[in-house]
Amino acid sequence: MEAELIALAPETRFSFTCSPEVPCFTRCCRELVQALTPYDALRLAAGLGLSAREFRERYTRLHPGPETGLPILTLAPVGGACPFVTAQGCRVYADRPSSCRAYPLLRAAGLPGQGPPASEAWFLLREPHCRGFDGPPRWTAAAWAEAQGLEAYNRENDRLLPLLRAKRRLHPAPLAGGLAARVAAALYDPEALREEFAAGRIPGGERILERHPGATAGEGLALLHAGLEAAEALLREASR
Ligand code: SF4
Ligand code: SF4
Repeated sequence: MEAELIALAPETRFSFTCSPEVPCFTRCCRELVQALTPYDALRLAAGLGLSAREFRERYTRLHPGPETGLPILTLAPVGGACPFVTAQGCRVYADRPSSCRAYPLLRAAGLPGQGPPASEAWFLLREPHCRGFDGPPRWTAAAWAEAQGLEAYNRENDRLLPLLRAKRRLHPAPLAGGLAARVAAALYDPEALREEFAAGRIPGGERILERHPGATAGEGLALLHAGLEAAEALLREASR
C-alpha cells in the first residue's frame, strides 16, 4: 500500500489514536528526518534547559531547504532515529515540533496579501506503517489542532510566510554561502543575531529593534520575530 494524501474539508472527520498500545508505537520517530521551524527550535531548547547554541550543536544539522532554498535546521538522527525517541515515547513531548504535533495531518498556509494567513488547508497523510487509523471517525482538523496544542505553533510558523514569499520573489535560486549563513543565523542563532544587530550589520536594524523592543534582552519570541524581519532585510539588501 502506498502513502495517501487526502484533502480534508473543515467538517470532514477522521479516526486516529496513538498510544503505547498501538503495535507501531514510536516507529514514526525512528525513520525520519525531522525539520524544525525557528519556533520549534526555540521551544525545544527552552524545554531542554539549553541555550539555542547548545541545542543546535548537540541535536541538529543545518541544510539548504529542498523546497524553499532557505537554510533549515533538522534534528540530527541517532542510528536513523530521532534523538528524542525512547522506548517509552517522546522525551520532549511537551515541546515536540510542529510536524510531530500535527501528524497524521499536514497543514498548508498561504499569504497572498499582507497580514495574517489568507488561506489554510489540511491534509490527512495515511502511511502504511502507521496503525493509528482504526476506530470511528472522531476528529476534525480543527479539533485535532486544538488537542495537539498547535495554535501557538501555527501562529508562530505563519510568521515565516512573508520571508518565504520574499525568498521566492527576490532569490529563486539557492542562496550563496555567505548570505545563506547570515540568514541561518537570523533564523536559528540568537546569539549571533544579537551581535549582528549590535554591530549595525542588519539593514534597517534599528527600526526592526524598535518594533521588537524585547529582542536585545534574551533569546525569546521578540528576538525570533526580529530575526525573521532581519532575514528578510538581508534578502532584500542582497537583491539590490
Ligand atoms: S506510526 Fe502512527 S500510530 Fe504508530 S506511533 Fe507513530 S503516529 Fe502513533
Ligand atoms: S520529537 Fe518526539 S514525537 Fe517528534 S520525532 Fe522525535 S521522538 Fe518522535
